[in-house]
Parts: sequence; structure tokens; C-alpha cells
Amino acid sequence: MGTPRSPKGRAQEVGRRLALEYPGAECELTHDDPFQLLAATILSAQTTDVRVNMVTPGLFAAFPDAESLAVARVEDVEPLIKSVGLYPSKARNLVAMAQRLVTEYGGEVPRRLEDLVTLPGVGRKTANVVRSVAFGLPGLPVDTHVGRLARKLGLTEHEDPVKVELELNGFVAPSERGTFSLRLILHGRRVCDARKPACERCVLADICPSATPPATSRAGGGARTAGGAGQRSGRAMRTARSS
Ligand code: SF4
Repeated sequence: MGTPRSPKGRAQEVGRRLALEYPGAECELTHDDPFQLLAATILSAQTTDVRVNMVTPGLFAAFPDAESLAVARVEDVEPLIKSVGLYPSKARNLVAMAQRLVTEYGGEVPRRLEDLVTLPGVGRKTANVVRSVAFGLPGLPVDTHVGRLARKLGLTEHEDPVKVELELNGFVAPSERGTFSLRLILHGRRVCDARKPACERCVLADICPSATPPATSRAGGGARTAGGAGQRSGRAMRTARSS
């Protein structure tokens, strides 16, 4: 393959390579249904998925659905999520979110982005997580990893997450937007660290404008084979599961 020159070509090659690298990429928030995923994603703001997964079993045992959470007192929710950052405002948002689900949507999680973003505590990123993971609908969540990697890879120059999302939407097929985001997040966590990107073992190094050293100075061009990526993918996913 020649080196892709356009952002769209690069995005598609990034998608291809990361699919080999992280074939089993999936949302790491534990959930059984759209309501649980919505609540877990609200809780995940500025907190690790691991931390959220520690509190949601207790939360969902006490309040398994929108109806039960809608009539909860905020002070009864707070102790259940206390180890999660920003828990007082998240407890308020969870109860208000459930109340709106009950009053406006019959207790069900809506599927449309325009409806999801009207729920308390739900922004565009959370709405796209719910759409893509819970419903299998097009949705490309842009978190700090996705925005950062998209800029490093020369896919966008925007800082605003909404503009990043809209630009990436033009490059990624609707059915692949959710997994594209999940794979960029995994790559940001495992390889392209914000402070110390591991370009020397990155499968995107030969097409990444931010690679150090630059791709042109790499001996042999630095392009890696799909087979090589596939062999590393098993290790990457094992590392992901064990951390
Ligand atoms: S080559 Fe380096 S900067 Fe580019 S995506 Fe890979 S780790 Fe990040």
C-alpha cells in the first residue's frame, strides 16, 4: 500500500490497521441493557471504567431500571457511587435522567441523538456511546483520546470534540464509527500515551505525521505487515484485560 496522503485515506488505513491490532475491542463498562450503559457512561466522566465497574453492581441492585431510580432520593444514591469522582452531581444527574426517561420516554432509553442529549448528564459523547454500543447505531464518541489521536494522526485540526466528530464521520462508514472510536481509545491507552507515545512499537508509525523519529528517517520505511500487527494484537488485548 502507498502512504495515504489525504486525511480520509489515512483514517481508513488507521481503521484497517487498528482492526487487526484490536480485533475484539468493546466497551469496557459493564452493563446488561441500554439503561445500565447510559447510567454507567454518565458515571464514567473523568473516572476510569474500572472504578465505575466497581460501583455499578451495587447501584443496579438497588435501582435496576429507570422507574426505580426515578423515585430514589439523591441522598440514597450518593453512598452507592461515593468512590467515583464528582459523585454528588452525578447522583443528581442519575435521578434526573431516570425521571426524564419515565416522564418523556416511557422508561425506555431513546435512540435518537437529539433526544439523548436532552437527558441530564448526557452530552454528545455519552449519547454516541449509547447509540453505538447499546443499539448498534452510528455514533462516534470523541473523548480526550480520540480527539488527541485524531489530531496527531493528521485526521483533523479541530480541538472542539463536536467538530472532530463531524470531520471523522466524513471518513468512517456509519457502521464502523463506534468501533473506530473504541480502537482509537485503546490505542491511546496502550501505545500513544499523551506524555510518552511509544512510536517505536506503533503500527501507525509509518503513516503518522507526529511519529518520532519521523517515518522518513526510519530504516526500511517502518511499514509493518498485517501479520505482524495481528501477532501483536493478542498481546495488546491480553494486556488490556489484565490491567
Ligand atoms: S506514531 Fe507515535 S504519535 Fe503517531 S499514533 Fe503512533 S504512538 Fe502516537
